[in-house]
Amino acid sequence: MKNREQILAEINTLSASKGFFNVLIRLTAINLNSFVDTLATRDWRKLLNQNEIAFLFGFWLKNRNANFGGILDIPQTANYVHELMDELHLSFMKKLPEPSENVSYKEIFITSSSLQETIFYSGTGAYDYQYMDYLESKYSYDKEWLKSKKDVDIQTCIDFFTFLKSVVNYKLNFKGLPADSIEIYSIDKNCCLFKKYPAFLKVIDLFSIKDNDVLNTEFNDIGDLNVFLLKPIIDSGNKFIFPFPYLVAESIFESPFYWMLDDTGYKSKALKNRGTCAEEIVKKELWKVFPPERVYNNVFVMANKATRLTDIDICVFYEETLIIFQVKSKKLTQLSKKGNLEQIKLDFSQAVEDSFNQINKIYDPIIKNKCNLVDEQGKEVLKAESIKEIYSICIVLDNYPPLLIHSRIFYQDKDATPIAMTIFDFQILLKYLHTPALFLEYIQKRTVNSKTIYTDTELSYLKYFMTHGFEMPEDSDLLMLDGDFGQYFDKHYYMQLLSRYSRRFPDLIGNIGRNEGCFCGSGIKFKKCCAYIGFEAQ
Ligand SMILES: [Zn+2]
Repeated sequence: MKNREQILAEINTLSASKGFFNVLIRLTAINLNSFVDTLATRDWRKLLNQNEIAFLFGFWLKNRNANFGGILDIPQTANYVHELMDELHLSFMKKLPEPSENVSYKEIFITSSSLQETIFYSGTGAYDYQYMDYLESKYSYDKEWLKSKKDVDIQTCIDFFTFLKSVVNYKLNFKGLPADSIEIYSIDKNCCLFKKYPAFLKVIDLFSIKDNDVLNTEFNDIGDLNVFLLKPIIDSGNKFIFPFPYLVAESIFESPFYWMLDDTGYKSKALKNRGTCAEEIVKKELWKVFPPERVYNNVFVMANKATRLTDIDICVFYEETLIIFQVKSKKLTQLSKKGNLEQIKLDFSQAVEDSFNQINKIYDPIIKNKCNLVDEQGKEVLKAESIKEIYSICIVLDNYPPLLIHSRIFYQDKDATPIAMTIFDFQILLKYLHTPALFLEYIQKRTVNSKTIYTDTELSYLKYFMTHGFEMPEDSDLLMLDGDFGQYFDKHYYMQLLSRYSRRFPDLIGNIGRNEGCFCGSGIKFKKCCAYIGFEAQ
């Protein structure tokens, strides 16, 4: 078996060969594309995940102009690269001690290698269109900055991604192209949509790389900064190529915040806006299930007039129960992705631990009616004496895929495990737990079972609740739920999301002249291209 250095060296060499881009398109087609009816049943254990494919694109970006060696046999090399990636995954396990009575839990799980594995192999944690769902509200106070400094607006970004994603789906379903054809992921620059929406070109400019850009020179291993994640569109000759639409959505969602942080004059405002938006997003989500008058924000917990115990970002009071939501905006840092143990702990404490500990301190004072719950002006908003039960949830605005695993690992030897989830999982939770009673039951059972039912994603918990009501099987004291439970939503939730956006595709295209460049980006006139597939020229 090869060691990790050998595997990475081989991938590096292969990525410098002609045809490696086609190898990646093939791997994308095999591992990431799926027809609707198989979305919920695919064996994801045998597939490469999005992080692994993006990692390979990182090597391609580094070595794309090297043209080293001969032309690759595409299918054969794709299989071989897949094997190398599987070996790379196994190399993480080899660094861990063999489980035995003398090896503690911490020696296995709280190690750099083990935690880095959970970060890289946890998958994506959000559906692409969920990023579009929150784009408007995430940057609602930064629109002027975006317009004046980057000349973009949010709605254009959403329309652009909707167009891009819909074109790929359209070509996969209706054009009869081979699944590993680069054509599927390309749009000719003469496409009529660019004439209709010149602002799309501005968005592309912000998220694209050019043929001769020298990038990713320091990219060698998992966790190294990968520019392809920030600029996943390739501006090449007469085409734009976007082999990985998911990354376009992710970068549109995340990058503007980092652009603003780079502007020293705007940084503090950007951070303030971010906190405000995060709370507003959570509040609006809760309104879908709870009456707005039951949702409170910025509640101060006062031991007396002068002593504030803590402040609650958002809370819901329902049937004598207080559900507290602490809202954080925290992303895994680059250093964590490289497996730096101290940084992983720090990221987790800033995302979850700090607010969990803060909330723990106020359980007793509230239940024992030894504090006041007031607003900014000191006016009482809730009576502590009416609260009989308290639950708390930490919501993270950023994508943080191993959040649940890290909560379990870092709280293994404590009495309770925090409930922490991303806004993306929270959105799905509220969709299915659509009444206050249902939501409350979920949170109660989820809290009680946090030490007896394990899983790696919140969505697996949700599905288990929907089908088994969080029941423990008879004669069991520990239950481990498989990731397959959460896969249910890949079809049932994602399809609704997808159709909500793709419904706009025909409207975006609008009228096309017969001699204009076809909307599908083929580079051919509409009348000679897609005019025959149900799209009538006006
Ligand atoms: Zn066409």
